[in-house]
Amino acid sequence: MPIQQDPATLAAMLDVELPRLDLAGRLALVARTGRAVFTTSLGIEDQVITAAIGTHQLPIDVSTLETGRLFQETVDLIVQTEERYGIEIRRFRPEPQDVEAYAAQYGLNGFYESVQARHACCFVRKLKPLARALAGAEIWVTGLRRGQSGNRASIPFAEYDADKNLIKVNPLADWEIETILAHVAAEAIPVNPLHGRGYPSIGCEPCTRAIKPGEPERAGRWWWENDEKRECGLHVPENAAQPVPQATPQSSQIAR
Ligand code: SF4
Repeated sequence: MPIQQDPATLAAMLDVELPRLDLAGRLALVARTGRAVFTTSLGIEDQVITAAIGTHQLPIDVSTLETGRLFQETVDLIVQTEERYGIEIRRFRPEPQDVEAYAAQYGLNGFYESVQARHACCFVRKLKPLARALAGAEIWVTGLRRGQSGNRASIPFAEYDADKNLIKVNPLADWEIETILAHVAAEAIPVNPLHGRGYPSIGCEPCTRAIKPGEPERAGRWWWENDEKRECGLHVPENAAQPVPQATPQSSQIAR
């Protein structure tokens, strides 16, 4: 059903209503509200949402950004999850010419050399495919949780994203990791085997390492950078102070 109301007002209403419901109820409300797309990274939180969508056969599109640099375990989990829940996970890949242009300018693994080069890689492999994944969507569902990092500590259940002109919904905003783990065990939800090897947060293979005991959940992402708020640009804009050459994306476009 297309959204008739002002999306900012609707987002405010959802932000009040969603916390009163269980996960299935939250997602059902989202599905009734407008055309929704859930973007999954196949992380444990995202698997909880995918399982709920599949189990309840909710009309929410499930999409993933197949960056070309994912762990094989993640690629395998996409297929396993589709088979388990009888759903299609739509793959959005970078444009080959963009990847070639990036490699020519920075080198295939140029993201290790500077934050700006890393942003440029995420722009090509994640942000541009994300824009295609969200084309036509009125609601963007994510697996973000407040407990994942300080950067995400105050995320709402729903907010209007003016840049993308859609409502962003975080149905697991208030779930603690212990709740996630108990739910996954109770429902026998398939998860990435890397979680059991010290990877609570899993992104592209060259940019993710296992964490040490006591480290924050996202400490293994872009571990060579010093900024504690580092993100890849999908959800949270990074430090706008970074110098960005003309050929690369603006920081405001960058935010998982
Ligand atoms: S996480 Fe690393 S490999 Fe993946 S898109 Fe970003 S910089 Fe490139």
